Amino acid sequence: MWDIVAMISFLAFIIALIGTGVSAIKRRSVWKKWLAAVGVAFVLFIVGAVNAPPSENIQPPQTVAGEQGESADTNKSKDVTNSNSNSSEHSLPAESEENEEIAQQGVSGQLKAHFLDVGQGDSILIQLPNGQNMLIDAGTSEAGGSVVSYLKEQGINKINYLVATHPHADHVGGMIAVVQSLAIDRVYMPRVSHTTKIFENLLETIKAKGLKINKAEAGVTIINQEGIKAGFIAPCGSGYERPNNYSAVVKVQYGNTAFLLTGDAESVSEQEMIASGTNLKADVLKVGHHGSKSSTTQAFLSSVSPKYAVISCGAGNSYGHPHQAILDRLKKAGVQTYRTDIQGTVIITSDGKTLTIKTLGSTQKVRAPDTKTKISTNTKSSSNKTVSPGPAPDPPADSAYIGNNNTKKFHRPTCSTLPAEKNRVYFQSRDEAAAAGYVPCKRCDP
Ligand SMILES: [Zn+2]
Ligand SMILES: [Zn+2]
Repeated sequence: MWDIVAMISFLAFIIALIGTGVSAIKRRSVWKKWLAAVGVAFVLFIVGAVNAPPSENIQPPQTVAGEQGESADTNKSKDVTNSNSNSSEHSLPAESEENEEIAQQGVSGQLKAHFLDVGQGDSILIQLPNGQNMLIDAGTSEAGGSVVSYLKEQGINKINYLVATHPHADHVGGMIAVVQSLAIDRVYMPRVSHTTKIFENLLETIKAKGLKINKAEAGVTIINQEGIKAGFIAPCGSGYERPNNYSAVVKVQYGNTAFLLTGDAESVSEQEMIASGTNLKADVLKVGHHGSKSSTTQAFLSSVSPKYAVISCGAGNSYGHPHQAILDRLKKAGVQTYRTDIQGTVIITSDGKTLTIKTLGSTQKVRAPDTKTKISTNTKSSSNKTVSPGPAPDPPADSAYIGNNNTKKFHRPTCSTLPAEKNRVYFQSRDEAAAAGYVPCKRCDP
């Protein structure tokens, strides 16, 4: 507001100066009026300049897409974003004593976190109490249209903060439709050295829309105003072997309540988050990597100590998510757990003090009713999960191929002869499987 006043006054000041010169020469009588106008404009200019907020000092948005957009070679690892990383953002001060104060400063309204049922994948909409919207991931490309419809049903036409946690298709596939259909303010992504075809398509779409990309990494603040805080607490490092560990992990706080949204972050990242000393405590944990045993280590769960957990996964998914060990761990810790594959979209509302939870049920799916399968809640043996006999679930969500550690064969995730959970090795591409010395299964012919 003051910066505009400063600009206008400055312009007036300049015009007045010119006017003064001219009139001084022409008629001496107008001199005093001009002098007064110049004086007023100058004072306003100074006041405006003093009050104008300092220009935002966020990571210079890199034209990530531009750096590698032309390339058609999508199989090679590449550093998607590769320049300086001197983020000048502050880490989240997240002590609960502070939250007390924030609650009293008071923002009226509610924070509403929607964990969308996008089948196998993640998509989280957060409607902030200040009227802004944050979208973290958008499911697979199949789910994209449904995610857009859901957003529009909520009356949302603009996403103020769009976060792509990591390049996997079950997180960013649907984001292309979102970017094409809605107004977007800020885009955040981790700087990854692995990429996927779908991620590159997303980068192209973002570039085509003229949007810049802000780097998501530990310590970067997304918002810090009027009782609402949101920022990244991971990734803490770089050079991870597994793309999941690049996952942008977001902590959102409103008053006394906190949400921790971990993408597909695995134990390596969890360890780093603990080591970083950041306050991980949260009332709600979006369980990492769809409830896979790669994540939610006991140490991490203890550090977060959530009351509620949400697992976002697809019914009858071929990965066996969520893994029984994780369900047991959550249960033992007394965490009340919700699952999108069973309960459909989960909506958690915070008034800054208390949380209320609503589930839309599996009838109100956000995703298209395509690969509906029987849910086996008895997960003692993961082999009794039935995979859809219908149209093959299109782009395999997380890992495109599943290898068998013993036979050194690799399969499509839909293959009827998948190895037991403990013998599985996941590959993103056929090349990756071949490079590891695995041969294609004869039955599913990957
Ligand atoms: Zn992933
Ligand atoms: Zn995933």
